[in-house]
Amino acid sequence: MLNLNQLGIQEKELLLSRIPKYVDPQKVHFKINAFFVHRNCTVFEECYREKMVSYYPMLPLLEKQVEFAEADYILYCHRYACCHDMSDIVLKELAAIDQHRKPGAEIIVVGKAANVEQLLNGSIKNISFYMSHFTEKLGKRFQVSIKENYFVWDDEYNWLAIWPVDGCLQKCKFCRRSYMEIPFESLSLDIVKQNLDFIKESNPERLHNISLRAENLTEYGIDIYGRPMLHKLLDLLQSYEEIHSINIPIGLCIGEINSDILDALCRCSKLSEISLNLEAGTNRLLDLIGKPHHVEDAINVYDKLRSSNPNLYISSVFMLGLPTEGIEDIFELAKLIGICQPDHLRCNYYICAPKHPLAKLPQINKQVREYHLKILLKQLKSTLNRRCTIEYPSISKKSRKFQRKMNILEEINKYSPLPHHLRSNAVYIP
Ligand code: SF4
Repeated sequence: MLNLNQLGIQEKELLLSRIPKYVDPQKVHFKINAFFVHRNCTVFEECYREKMVSYYPMLPLLEKQVEFAEADYILYCHRYACCHDMSDIVLKELAAIDQHRKPGAEIIVVGKAANVEQLLNGSIKNISFYMSHFTEKLGKRFQVSIKENYFVWDDEYNWLAIWPVDGCLQKCKFCRRSYMEIPFESLSLDIVKQNLDFIKESNPERLHNISLRAENLTEYGIDIYGRPMLHKLLDLLQSYEEIHSINIPIGLCIGEINSDILDALCRCSKLSEISLNLEAGTNRLLDLIGKPHHVEDAINVYDKLRSSNPNLYISSVFMLGLPTEGIEDIFELAKLIGICQPDHLRCNYYICAPKHPLAKLPQINKQVREYHLKILLKQLKSTLNRRCTIEYPSISKKSRKFQRKMNILEEINKYSPLPHHLRSNAVYIP
């Protein structure tokens, strides 16, 4: 059986590519086919967390697989939803597996794809759903010593990735969380300390750079301590001499940064990089999309962090094309970005999934969305005085033509909302 303890990610990737896909069914105890786990984790890139925390530790189980037609167990995973809702794909694939599997073979759906259980409503028989801790559950089921690993040395990025909490208690109206279940669970501070101590003893150099990750880090500890404990976690990390730098690359929820957390972020001298997502530039839009912060909160957090740690690299994400978005929201967003002065900005277009609460509102059309992007980029030229890299979606040719017309309009009607007929069927909510 594979021993993964000392291997880095590159070695695991290599191993994965070398695992013989299928073995002689006579030579294995349990006849597993994990084609869908392979395909969804490696070809279509499951999320970093799923890969590091659950998938690589599963490698010993995947070492011996039989062909689909021979399998008594078929493992299935899918990211299910990211920006797009992909539940239709999951339903189709499961229907096909159901139709072609060997009589009596069991389908085991692991991870986020287990959300499909409600949609299937019992229509597929002999199927199990392992939403969380699926590596551990599979290990127990097949008596292989495997379980999730929340402290992963990544030799590609040269950091120790730590996932102290999974899940999110918010339900922002543009997020998959508004219709997907992912159980909320934190690791206790004691467990974090035990793991850090173990690494300190065995491989102290692996502590030098920490990547602290979670979909919603600001809620760390609520399930165990009854209140957020990110400040205690930061203090714990700060206390290790071996730790030189800490990055927090997944956007913290600004509305959940309380004074304890903000103070801890400010005093954490090892914090080198943080992501704080502004999302939108007006309180009207922030309320509409269900973000728990207002622009004033964002300004306060940016300001305090900048004053306490001037070298901190701050990245931010915002969305364009939100329902009811008007040109004045774009000017306000540019103003907000100008005040906050992030070092890196990423613009995402809002992608409407029918299950989002926002789907009930009138949507902005593609051309107006691209026009908003162009106006914003123009505005940012004059509002950003810090060196800032900006990632944004490409602008289509068709829309460039449209933009020329819009530029003329813009000149005529500078700071006022777009004419109504150009806003598709968007309306303002007072
Ligand atoms: S806080 Fe983040 S993860 Fe949670 S619902 Fe909002 S956008 Fe989604």
